[in-house]
Amino acid sequence: MLMDRDISELQAIVGAENVSVRQPDLEAHSVDESWIDAHLPDVVVWPTSTEQVSAILKYANGRGLPVVPWGGGSSLEGNPVPVMGGILLALYRMKAILELREDDLQVVVQPGIVYDELNAHLRRLGMFFPPAPGSADVATIGGMVANNSSGMRAVKYGVTRDYVLKLKIVLADGRIITVGSNAKKSTSGYDLVGLFVGSEGTLGVVTEITLRLMGLPEQVAVAVASFDELSDAAQAVYEAVRYGLDPSAVEILDANTMRVTNEQQGLSFRPTPTLFVEFHGNEAGVQEQLAYLRELCEDHHCVEFQTATTAEAREKLWSARSEAHDSIKFTHPRCAMIAGDVCVPISRFSEMIAYVGELAGENGLTIYAFGHAGDGNLHTEVIARREDKDEFGRALKTTDRMIEHALALGGTVAGEHGVGAIKRHFMPREHGASLDVMRAIKAVLDPQGILNPGKIFPTL
Ligand SMILES: Cc1cc2nc3c(=O)[nH]c(=O)nc-3n(C[C@H](O)[C@H](O)[C@H](O)COP(=O)(O)OP(=O)(O)OC[C@H]3O[C@@H](n4cnc5c(N)ncnc54)[C@H](O)[C@@H]3O)c2cc1C
Repeated sequence: MLMDRDISELQAIVGAENVSVRQPDLEAHSVDESWIDAHLPDVVVWPTSTEQVSAILKYANGRGLPVVPWGGGSSLEGNPVPVMGGILLALYRMKAILELREDDLQVVVQPGIVYDELNAHLRRLGMFFPPAPGSADVATIGGMVANNSSGMRAVKYGVTRDYVLKLKIVLADGRIITVGSNAKKSTSGYDLVGLFVGSEGTLGVVTEITLRLMGLPEQVAVAVASFDELSDAAQAVYEAVRYGLDPSAVEILDANTMRVTNEQQGLSFRPTPTLFVEFHGNEAGVQEQLAYLRELCEDHHCVEFQTATTAEAREKLWSARSEAHDSIKFTHPRCAMIAGDVCVPISRFSEMIAYVGELAGENGLTIYAFGHAGDGNLHTEVIARREDKDEFGRALKTTDRMIEHALALGGTVAGEHGVGAIKRHFMPREHGASLDVMRAIKAVLDPQGILNPGKIFPTL
């Protein structure tokens, strides 16, 4: 619990106007996009420099106060929710592009810049930062680094970790360190960049990020393929990846998701399992890939195949995929959406998605399944009324069973959303003795456990 003198101390560091204990500010930073209950922080602080972050952490560490970094608050696992109160470090005002090194295809940014804003700027220069999360209009680069986010383009371009060259980090005791370099590769010492990326704000606060970038492709094409059976769609994905196609995105939506997206967005796609596939390349290469994809889909009983290459037509075709999450949300107002984010080896994806269908039937629940099929990353939303304890309990258990199944298939609990507060009970099962190594690292870097407590580890 913070005292008046703590608030005064924080005001002295960042200025009184950048500290708030007002109820609306506390509430605005008490929930992310997950279903967990709101937890109010004691205070919200908006730092504007690395030095201020350092002074805040030094003070908080001395007092043993929790500090929770917050980017766009768009996580799906309770990642930035201040479950133990304390200081909410809102980093979204630190959003400058500090340096753009066009010749090296590199950019240095503060953590609060939003993915779409950064890419809008880079696009004018013929470059982009590829991962493309579904939350691109709210996710900050700091939040993406902390969650090691990815998204639709990971199948071709990889995940956030693959693009982070260097980080400026404030440690729990206020020390400022820089990890990594501007070189594209390095074998110098332990890979601390890799360690901090994906650490969900539990090891340090990122205040500067150097990203490597990609050149924009000459041509972009989109294909939408509809199937009657989900298993056919999943098998087509497997063969596309296995037999050498190089898509920049392969997204799958089940029939339920297609139906509500049509209804909510006024679209008229076939309400059956559908693949959304994107290719980047030159004109000839893209056309060749589209033709090959069509062949593979037809081999798997595809019933409709549409393509688009102009920006406007692509946007129209892609709209169902981009609006899937919101369409589900609007269809079930006042219901909890319990998100799953398992990722399995691509050869087991078909089996995984079939298992989700079985669970829905067995438990009488509405489950939506969609996701980054090209990576074997399946997103699920189990719908449950919170006030119906039985239904809510079944929904949680069903999500757990999906995760257990994914682990049994050699997969992981979290493909891209992180562990947060919600999936931490699975950590011993997924990591075994290596969880002790993670605990040891945490103990060295944050011995008092002030940084984002109640996350990743099942017990403190
Ligand atoms: C509709 C929708 C679609 C989504 N689609 C995707 C998707 O395709 N792929 C994907 O990966 N995710 C997706 N997400 C999840 C989420 O948007 C991403 O994980 C995103 O990167 C979180 O960024 P954020 O800025 O909102 O971070 P927050 O939610 O604010 O924080 C995320 C974590 O990072 C920590 N943190 C934030 N900033 C810093 C910092 N500067 N230093 C240290 N720690 C920090 C927080 O404490 C927290 O643990 C989706 C979410 C929604 C609602």
